[in-house]
Amino acid sequence: MWIHLLFDILEDIEMVLRIDQYNAGFKIVSLAKDEETCCDLLGDQLDFVFIENDILVLYPEKIVLVASIDIISELKKYSNYDVFEIWPDGRMFMRFDTMSLDNFFFVTGKCNSNCVMCPSPEIMRKQGEETDIIKLIELAKHIPANVRHLTITGGEPFLSGEKIFEFISFLRDKFTDTECLFLTNGRIFSLDKYVRLLQENMPSRSIFAIPLHAADENLHDKITQARGSFAQTTLGIKRMLRYGMHIELRIVVSKLNCHNLTKLAQFIVQEISQIEYVSVIAMEMTGSAYKNKDLVWISYRDAFECAKDAIKLLISNGINVRLYNFPLCTVNSSYWMICEKSISPNKVRYGEVCEACNYKSACGGVFAGTIQMEKEELKAIL
Ligand code: SF4
Repeated sequence: MWIHLLFDILEDIEMVLRIDQYNAGFKIVSLAKDEETCCDLLGDQLDFVFIENDILVLYPEKIVLVASIDIISELKKYSNYDVFEIWPDGRMFMRFDTMSLDNFFFVTGKCNSNCVMCPSPEIMRKQGEETDIIKLIELAKHIPANVRHLTITGGEPFLSGEKIFEFISFLRDKFTDTECLFLTNGRIFSLDKYVRLLQENMPSRSIFAIPLHAADENLHDKITQARGSFAQTTLGIKRMLRYGMHIELRIVVSKLNCHNLTKLAQFIVQEISQIEYVSVIAMEMTGSAYKNKDLVWISYRDAFECAKDAIKLLISNGINVRLYNFPLCTVNSSYWMICEKSISPNKVRYGEVCEACNYKSACGGVFAGTIQMEKEELKAIL
């Protein structure tokens, strides 16, 4: 699948703390910093840690954890209802940030495609870890029901088989007003059975982000390195649209498909125009994308120039378009209104020239993994 977000995930999984002499085993816990949150979490029968008079206590067992004042003050920087995993060795990893709109469930690193411009390394798609469904549900139990957005991603999350629908139905029942974004290559939905299972179990505000690389079957399959993927993905999209599902179509612009974009836009208009919108995306040059850079790299300006006619064609046919990961200075100003600030805060970088730029606050910047390749391309807008 298109796993543009995989590196966000891996970078976000960072060790934040270590609790010495911890021996309570693996736990998923919420954070409480005041009595009200503590009572609320007790009422919901959730495991949590409570900072009580500068002492860290694990509930509901009421185990006092050995935490230095440094750890306590570090934890105080987080918010009530943030969620962490505590590993048996005492390390704590953040899994849900109440202040972020980028929270996600990572289902599996494995993928049945192997896109040449994927920002994660190939080994992750072949040997990636799978998250246990029970663990995903436990994590979802800890997340407040009023969260605005959640992403479900991988690898290809639906590679985990039909058991994923147990988790998806839990999301449906709990997150009734949350936008749930599923990142998938859509191939599994060429099977009607899977579309029906999805229809029965999905949250009411679901949207499915699916990549299509070309209108030409051979080119699409060359990019995914998976024969038959074009036929499966397009059939999957058509089946999903027949069930009234909401689809974001994603086009990652590379040297391989940049001259096929207008044909792709024509295909979208003729075959699948009921999609919600199209995202035109600049690459993140890490993982396989970096390894294959001679094959795939194209500058932002060239990528935008190649995409311009396709964007115009889509818009003139009533299809909304968004531009992801393009710095403003590389895009014609008449297209700025469709540029999104799409790079996660922990991965955004700006060049030295950006300090003089009048549009820095409106600009989404450049990926940390791409800036070395592209810093000459950035030009301050004065
Ligand atoms: S110069 Fe920097 S801040 Fe300004 S538009 Fe370009 S990338 Fe964005």
